[in-house]
Amino acid sequence: MSAESFITPVEEACRPSTSAEILAYLTRLAAGSTQARCLTLGHSVRGQALVALHCGQPTPGALRVLLVGSHHGGSEPAGGEALLTIARDLLYGDLSALLERFEFMLVPNANPDGRDAGSARNANEVNLNRDYGVLSQPETQAMNALLLAWRPHIVLDAHESAALKRHTLGVEGYLTDFDCQLDIANHPASTAAQQALAADLMQLTLLEVRAAGLRAQRYIKEISSVRKPMTHGGMAIGRFRNKAALYGALSLLLETPMLPKDDVYPSYQNITERTAQQRLCLRSFLRVVARSPLAHGGISQAAMGLGAGRALSLSGRYQVDPHEPVRWIDLRRYPSREPIQLPFANHGRLRPGPVVVVPTTYYITEHMGVFARTLDAHGLRYEWVTQAATVPVCSWRRAPTGQRAVPENRLLDLTVGHLQVSSAQPHVRLLCLLLEWESPSALRRHLPFQQLALQGDFHSVHRARAALATD
Ligand SMILES: [Zn+2]
Repeated sequence: MSAESFITPVEEACRPSTSAEILAYLTRLAAGSTQARCLTLGHSVRGQALVALHCGQPTPGALRVLLVGSHHGGSEPAGGEALLTIARDLLYGDLSALLERFEFMLVPNANPDGRDAGSARNANEVNLNRDYGVLSQPETQAMNALLLAWRPHIVLDAHESAALKRHTLGVEGYLTDFDCQLDIANHPASTAAQQALAADLMQLTLLEVRAAGLRAQRYIKEISSVRKPMTHGGMAIGRFRNKAALYGALSLLLETPMLPKDDVYPSYQNITERTAQQRLCLRSFLRVVARSPLAHGGISQAAMGLGAGRALSLSGRYQVDPHEPVRWIDLRRYPSREPIQLPFANHGRLRPGPVVVVPTTYYITEHMGVFARTLDAHGLRYEWVTQAATVPVCSWRRAPTGQRAVPENRLLDLTVGHLQVSSAQPHVRLLCLLLEWESPSALRRHLPFQQLALQGDFHSVHRARAALATD
């Protein structure tokens, strides 16, 4: 069969696909090829299958590339639509040579319920691209399980962004004005080597997209006012690209713009043009990946470990870039659409926050079942305490509402049924981010954990401490 026999819903009807249409299209693509199969990763809140298309043969040494679209459902459909054409190009078109050296996993529709409801959120009204730190939703649990099981080397998460921010920048009389933005996973807990490799991939892709005639730039966080400084993407591990990096992937974000909905376009909300733009960016990215030396040498994911006694940064902050304190950014006046450049304070430099020393072990002494389930979902190992013992720890004493909990060195009586979590495990960085008291990504800050009743004088998670003579 040839590529011409697979017309996507956008090509046929000039409107975004429904989740059922995407599923049917992926099924047809897979049925005609020995190189592809559909995998059900899990189900959405409303019970729709979350489907991935695997392309290529599992080959030792082959680079695994994961491409995800439409985490933000019906609000950002174009990434998913473009991924349908990429799947077709890989299986029946001009990208098929890539299958000799790469394996691909394509998830065009990461939020099926949101797509069908025309919403950015899932059916529980949760923003899935903020949920990867706590994994409270079936969709994020399924995607996270894919990261753990398939261990992609390279990840790209495709998004869209409205040029008209009706309640912020639009009120000041401006629209954003770019064709393509890319960012890397930037959490300071990911390794320097990993960030450097991902930044390289990003820069090369930006050049490639520009060579194809689009205005491409490093991602600028949504501009809410022309008087505020500019920064880059958020660092929290609730975002898919940051979470994927903590499992060792080189991970990128792609964003293309949506022009104001009230304009007149040749297709429904300009979906044909938006899809073409995403497709061009995705194909540029794949050309860069194909040429990259990574494709030959392979990427070591093992370097993600970190032993007890080593330090890592739990957070980071953007600050003024001394080399370029002011940046001129392309905008358009609204409603006239006249192009304009305005100066912004450039807070584009990421400064890692204070570091913590990785302890040998964490102990968990309350709500062990809830913690165990969550650690399982994140692919983290733990053991149940089977014998009573007394261990030196640092605990956080509970404080009245509004006051800070204070760390306190003490002896902890461990009993059967408590949890001990060793830091000698592959995803130790993630472990620290989830369990450390000061971590902005700590589980304790998330709703299900905030609702747990506490019995004792201390909070539930304790850091092991080397025994001192005074204990
Ligand atoms: Zn988005």
